[in-house]
Amino acid sequence: MRIILLGPPGAGKGTQAEVLVKKLSIPHISTGDMFRNAIKEGTELGKKAKGYMDSGQLVPDEVTVGIVQERISQNDCQGGFLLDGFPRTVSQAEALDGILAEMQTGLDAVISIEVPKEKLVTRLTGRRVCRKCGATYHMEFNPPGQDGACDKCSGELYQRSDDTEETVLNRLSVYENQTAPLIEYYSQKGLLKKIDGDKPIDQVLVKIGESLGRNWA
Ligand code: ADP
Ligand code: AMP
Repeated sequence: MRIILLGPPGAGKGTQAEVLVKKLSIPHISTGDMFRNAIKEGTELGKKAKGYMDSGQLVPDEVTVGIVQERISQNDCQGGFLLDGFPRTVSQAEALDGILAEMQTGLDAVISIEVPKEKLVTRLTGRRVCRKCGATYHMEFNPPGQDGACDKCSGELYQRSDDTEETVLNRLSVYENQTAPLIEYYSQKGLLKKIDGDKPIDQVLVKIGESLGRNWA
């Protein structure tokens, strides 16, 4: 299956992706994770992305589309993939259509996770991520068993530098202006599945499963 997870920052895309990719046996492609890894490794890509990410702006389309094209051309993506955080602009979505057409394939579904705007700031400022395996927690809504340590691998939990209130507010307005139009874009193509993301994590997963014709209840 070729799936996109769409939704504002904090909607729960990464949280759902962790489980979905295991259930569907497809790779998880998160452009945000790719940029964070590049920054950690000090690569050219990381240098290009850092300033935009720190201020909550989008990394330019030509950089982002290039890394996604390269990634989905790899062998492990032949049987499908889950895109998390890409596309984020109409021009990225059009570029993706072109890349998939060249590969003689297309998308199966675009899952739009919807959460009321006023809940997103709390979700993002309370988010903690495992430095080692990337698992996502929330101080209040999905706390780890032991303070500061990952349940899965005991790795150290950290707060993303762009999860401060000021940057979060920028990211939410970037979403409204540049990414929200994709809801209409994919709705017109008949691919959009709207999911209520303002429910407990396991219930959201069941609804996503249903929208893909699977029973995960
Ligand atoms: P995104 O990848 O869309 O930016 P995340 O999956 O990282 O969002 O989730 C943002 C924060 O909200 C995390 O701290 C996560 O633990 C928490 N979260 C995710 N899904 C839910 C949910 N259904 N209810 C409450 N909190 C959630
Ligand atoms: P995320 O991990 O999805 O929350 O993304 C973190 C940051 O990475 C965003 O605020 C952007 O600066 C950058 N980013 C991630 N994906 C994209 C994308 N598709 N287009 C442009 N910038 C992106």
